[in-house]
Parts: sequence; C-alpha cells; structure tokens
Amino acid sequence: MTVFSHKEFDHHEQVAFFHEEKSGLKAIVAIHNTNLGPALGGCRMWPYATDEEALTDVLRLSRGMTYKSALAGLPLGGGKCVIIGDPRRDKSPELLRDLGRFIDGLSGAYITAEDSGTSVADMKLIGENTAHVAGVMEGTEHGGDPSPSTAYSTFVGLKTAVKQRLGRDDLNGITVALQGVGNVGYYLARHLHEAGAKLIVSDIVPEHLQRAVDQFGARVVATDEIYGVEADVFAPCALGGVINYNTLDQLKCAVIAGAANNQLATPEFGELLLRKEILYTPDYVLNAGGIIDVAYQRSGESAETLKNHIESIGATLEEIFERAAADGKPPHEVADQIAEERFRSA
Ligand code: NAD
Repeated sequence: MTVFSHKEFDHHEQVAFFHEEKSGLKAIVAIHNTNLGPALGGCRMWPYATDEEALTDVLRLSRGMTYKSALAGLPLGGGKCVIIGDPRRDKSPELLRDLGRFIDGLSGAYITAEDSGTSVADMKLIGENTAHVAGVMEGTEHGGDPSPSTAYSTFVGLKTAVKQRLGRDDLNGITVALQGVGNVGYYLARHLHEAGAKLIVSDIVPEHLQRAVDQFGARVVATDEIYGVEADVFAPCALGGVINYNTLDQLKCAVIAGAANNQLATPEFGELLLRKEILYTPDYVLNAGGIIDVAYQRSGESAETLKNHIESIGATLEEIFERAAADGKPPHEVADQIAEERFRSA
C-alpha cells in the first residue's frame, strides 16, 4: 500500500495508523492541512473491504474538510478519521476509548466528531481519553447532533441558488424534489414546507417517507423516479455520486442544491450541468452548517452568532456564482479556487 505516492495524497501533512490488539481497533487519521487551524473532521466507521479502500476514503474526506472549513470562514484545517470495522458488530466502549487515547497522542492537531457509523454516545466514550473531541453537548435539544444546522445551511444555500437562477426572492410555490428524508433531509423539508415550497420525496425507509407525508404534505415517488420529476430544485440528501451518466439526462430541474457529500460522480459533471443550464450549488459549501455548529460547540459561541455565521453562506455562494458566471466556469471549480486561495495564503 502506497501513502506518499497515493493518488489522493495531495500534500497531506500527516497520516497516522492506529492498531490495538485487544479491542481490535484499526483506525487511520489523515490531517490534510492545518494552515488555518487544527484539523476538525468526523470519524467514520465502515467495514472497508481492504486497508487500501480505507486509506483512499480518509485521504479524500480529509482533503474535503480543508476546503469546507476554509470556505465556511472557520479557523480550522481539514482532517478525518476512519475506523475499519462494522459499527453494528465491531464497535465497543474499549475500542472507542483506545481511539480517544490515540487521538490524544496527536496533541490537538486533529479534533474528531460524529460521522457515518459513529454517534454522540461514541464521542462521549472517545472523550474519556481526550479533550480533542467535538459534537457532544450535554443539556441541549440535539445533544450535539449537527444535522439541524446542516439542514439550515442547505436551506440558506438553496434559497440563494433559486434567487440566482430563477430570480425569485422566496420559495412560495417552488417545487423541490428531495432525495432522502433522514436526519438532514427531514429538517430541510421542514424549512422548505414553512417557506411554502411543495415537496416530492424519495427514501428507502417507509417511516421516513410517512413522516414527510404527514407533516409536510409531501408527494412520494420511487427511488429511481426522483431524478426525472418536474421540479424547480433537486435536493440530494442521501447519497454521494448521484449526478452521473444514468441520471444526468433525466434531470428537469433548474437548480441542484442538497446536503449530500460528493454529489458529482466526477468533477466533469459540473461542466455537463453548466451546459444543461442547471445551476449546481457546490455541496460542501451548502452543507457546512454542521461543521460550523460543531466548531461553535467547542468555542461556546451563542446560538445567534451560529445562525449569523450559517447565514453568511448565502453571501459566499453569491460570490461563487458571480465569479463562475463571469469566468464561464462551473461553480464547484470556483468554490475550490476560493478555498485554495484562503488556506494556501494563510
Ligand atoms: P441519514 O442516514 O440520516 O439520512 C439519509 C436518508 O437517505 C435516510 O433516510 C436513508 O433511508 C435515505 N436513503 C438511503 N438510500 C437512499 C436512496 N437510494 N434513495 C433515497 N433515499 C435514500 O444521513 P444524514 O445525516 O441526513 O446525511 C445525509 C447526507 O448529508 C449524507 O450524504 C451526509 O454525508 C451529508 N451530510 C450530513 C451532515 C450532517 O450533519 N448529518 C453534514 C454534512 C453532510
């Protein structure tokens, strides 16, 4: 397995491999860049088929966090942790405490938080052995879960994109096709419903669909139909890679704005969407509410400051859309450029 010559290595500052025989912990922490501050990023637990697959994932995710935090204007760098294992079978308090000890050994260069396969309760166990853990807030409504803030930033970004592409100041009567009404999708649906938008939803969990029907009057379509429905906005909030050769020609929307990470199967799809006159709102700009929330949990800022910071994503997106239009470039390329200007010059 190569590291320095790995195709996703991209100037990572540090990659640490952890193993503990007794608990069975096998984890990798990747720290991409700390020019703007310590690397904050979630800890994912996944039954990777190979070590190589785990390394590729952690390198890509960690780099993505550098860009996300830089664009969100946070004094943070990018990093990520992956644990190799099935969260339902292999996770134990001992394993999480061991991870806490290892993360502590990085002396604060990396701060962990929840991600797929880990929870607020897991962060508490990790936190028994290190202070470098975020996403745990005792006594608050969401206990540290960043999903409501991710949904709010996605809502703010979606509104900005609708204004840019459709010239509309409000969402009243706008139709949104929402893929995935889980944690983030549910809260986003609530914001959209309150703003007067009509919802078409898909999910694979019947209870999630029913909740959207009962509470927001959503219309349900099959999972493979959501791409081709008549809607102003397509909001992917389930899976990555959903803009691909199978879905591109089905899309009838004017705007894509959702919370899912890595929506473009490959960067070229940004250019293909531009040609179809579909405004693609770069996912990591839109879904930064979660990382802003987690960062503020640590610094103890007020709810008002958090809300204002999340709402500033609207202005960031306006800048991205303006530069993209002026340069004839897809918005995600411009977003990357602005992020690089920020963390490279720091
Ligand atoms: P979640 O698991 O709670 O919700 C995902 C939903 O999508 C679930 O209801 C699931 O049943 C549904 N789903 C799965 N496969 C589907 C399919 N083929 N078609 C339709 N629906 C499907 O996850 P979440 O926390 O809401 O995150 C959603 C997305 O947002 C993910 O891509 C995640 O990486 C991204 N994201 C989340 C956060 C956060 O704060 N939770 C932050 C940044 C990015």
